[in-house]
Amino acid sequence: MTRNPRYDILFEPVKIGPVTAPNRFYCTPHALGTGQQMPHTRAAMREVRAEGGWGVVNTGYCSIHPSSDDAPLPYCRLWDDEDIKVHALMVDAVHRHGALAGVELWHGGGGTGNRLTRIPLMSASGVSTDSTYPGWMNLTRSRPMDKQDIREFRRWHVDAAKRARSAEFDIVYIYAGMNFGPYQFLLPWLNKRTDEYGGSLQNRVRLMREIVEDMKEAVGQTCAIAVRFSTDELLNIPGQTLESEAHEIITMLSDVPDLWDVKSSSWVRETASARFTEEGAQEPINSFVKPLTSKPVVGVGRFTSPDAMVSQIKRGILDLIGAARPSIADPFLPKKIDEGREDEIRECIGCNICVSGYHDCVPVRCTQNPTMGEEWRRNWHPERIPPGDPDTSVLIVGAGPAGLECARALGQRGFAVTLAEAREELGGRVSIESKLPGLATWARVRDYRTNLIQTMGNVDIYRGSELSAQDVIDFGCDHAVIATGATWTREILSSNGYPVDEIEDDAVFTPDNILAGAELQGPVVIYDFDHYYMGSCLAELLRKRGIEVTIVTPANAISAWTFMNNELGNIRVRMIELGIGTVFENYLTGFSDGAANLASVYPGGGVSSIDCGVLIVVGVRSGNDRLYQELNSDAGRMADAGISSLQSIGDCRAPGAIAHAVYAGHECARNIDANEPVAPFLVERPSLSSN
Ligand code: ADP
Ligand code: SF4
Repeated sequence: MTRNPRYDILFEPVKIGPVTAPNRFYCTPHALGTGQQMPHTRAAMREVRAEGGWGVVNTGYCSIHPSSDDAPLPYCRLWDDEDIKVHALMVDAVHRHGALAGVELWHGGGGTGNRLTRIPLMSASGVSTDSTYPGWMNLTRSRPMDKQDIREFRRWHVDAAKRARSAEFDIVYIYAGMNFGPYQFLLPWLNKRTDEYGGSLQNRVRLMREIVEDMKEAVGQTCAIAVRFSTDELLNIPGQTLESEAHEIITMLSDVPDLWDVKSSSWVRETASARFTEEGAQEPINSFVKPLTSKPVVGVGRFTSPDAMVSQIKRGILDLIGAARPSIADPFLPKKIDEGREDEIRECIGCNICVSGYHDCVPVRCTQNPTMGEEWRRNWHPERIPPGDPDTSVLIVGAGPAGLECARALGQRGFAVTLAEAREELGGRVSIESKLPGLATWARVRDYRTNLIQTMGNVDIYRGSELSAQDVIDFGCDHAVIATGATWTREILSSNGYPVDEIEDDAVFTPDNILAGAELQGPVVIYDFDHYYMGSCLAELLRKRGIEVTIVTPANAISAWTFMNNELGNIRVRMIELGIGTVFENYLTGFSDGAANLASVYPGGGVSSIDCGVLIVVGVRSGNDRLYQELNSDAGRMADAGISSLQSIGDCRAPGAIAHAVYAGHECARNIDANEPVAPFLVERPSLSSN
């Protein structure tokens, strides 16, 4: 297939200082959870994006000096020459596919932790800020930088830039955003200096200008110098001559850097999930930049639609389409557009499971792309998969995320696949849950897979087919895969935090009941110890129907786990806006006479009760493994039917997030014909350095 001419503009080269990006697809710097410790994993995770057609592929944040240390979060570094080879591995990998490689040099100033290096933090004026995020806060505060510190600070940037050039990076960043070092000089509430680096905007910008000029002089002949700059806070400060200080800064430095990478000052706002932001949501903080500079401008916006990308360029908002999440979900997004296969794009659903991977300090995982993070250690590729035997038949029972991904990948391998689903609609939980407020994009998990499966002649789909064990036996197949999902239970927690017996009462419901359309007489208490999205989504759904809702949770926040995927604050705001009541740090002890009985999680914290017509328990899911167990208990009958392997996957085997189910489906498809036990994966091993 050929490219739709409407998208030609996306494939125009863009000159960035001394280098030229082959197209407008730009992987902006973003951490992938590998840091410096996993060089092979990191190189492979970046390489696959270059292979997939991204014209520029950047690192995540890369510390320039031990005085900027974000441990235990996974960051990379260029502290000395020994650090260069880790980067060279990635640069070579990116260059193999004709893309440019960029490095985001970073000094956190007072906005990091230095937990590992134990060097006192330093910043423009030593003004206290929360170091990184709540939960990662530390107990140290920064000291003000003196003139010697500023000279060193400039030198560290230059030294790191030279090392970056040695690693053969094409683009070198200064990071002047998100509460990090140079940005702290820009903000009047963080910069209280009375010398030439404080006071007037001219003075506050001085350090940023000096660093860009220093880096240009040092490596600017061969490397483009990019500035990563947060605009939103500065847009709110009126300027002397222009609308805002953000306008004035861009005007002052207009053509000094070779590229402007424009972003939000808050990672939480920038990577807001699809539940809270639309594609292109950054436009209000990006769009003012281009008219003020002749240099290319890049920004993000969770862009997955080529039309939205073209619109950004034609309307003069951006020159380069920045992406982190869309490139994780589909490293081959540019190639698919180039080849007229935009229908095959595996669109990011904006769930932010990838963000939680970084917070977990492990290589990021993705709901849509199960191969992300597995490129090196398992040799998984997002587009290629070894062929299988077309005469081998596989029956998959259940077409949720696990079953669908298994069917898609087995179909791609060429097996003879049959997918049986009890309901008329495919998609399992994603079809049901995508109807919850804000979760419509989750249906992309189903749509990407069903679109492909429907074009495969070797995959048969049977809807409205609830299979029994006898049905599976009668059907006969070489391999049977059971992907029958999970069911929410009415189990509650004991006073020491473990699930105990289910509450039996006609007025007690589970999320499955509500999603199936149960009629409720409020007021409603939602007892949430699942701590992810379901409790707050149901609260929102019911409140919008006019029902009074109170969330009770043993945690100290609503949807407490969502600290990990950056949704926590937005969920809290949404609950406040909707007038949803909250009771934190309480266990539900029972439900009687129309009241939910509660007890503090703390000894001596007291008991209470809330009158309610309905109690919804959002706690434990239990795998629907009856079919699997029945088949598994009768090996003789299976053997007689010629079924050589049986396995359960996804929520049926171990309830989890959608990402886990997709991953399980993919893994099953890759290994279904392995004759030997499959080695788990390669392990990165630290090597002993010479010093
Ligand atoms: P997962 O996330 O593991 O894919 P889901 O709950 O999303 O799990 O999907 C499981 C699917 O399996 C649902 O669509 C459900 O209707 C289907 N299912 C459950 N039991 C059977 C059965 N016996 N026969 C066919 N389909 C089934
Ligand atoms: Fe997008 Fe979710 Fe994948 Fe992150 S994990 S890239 S948000 S689909």
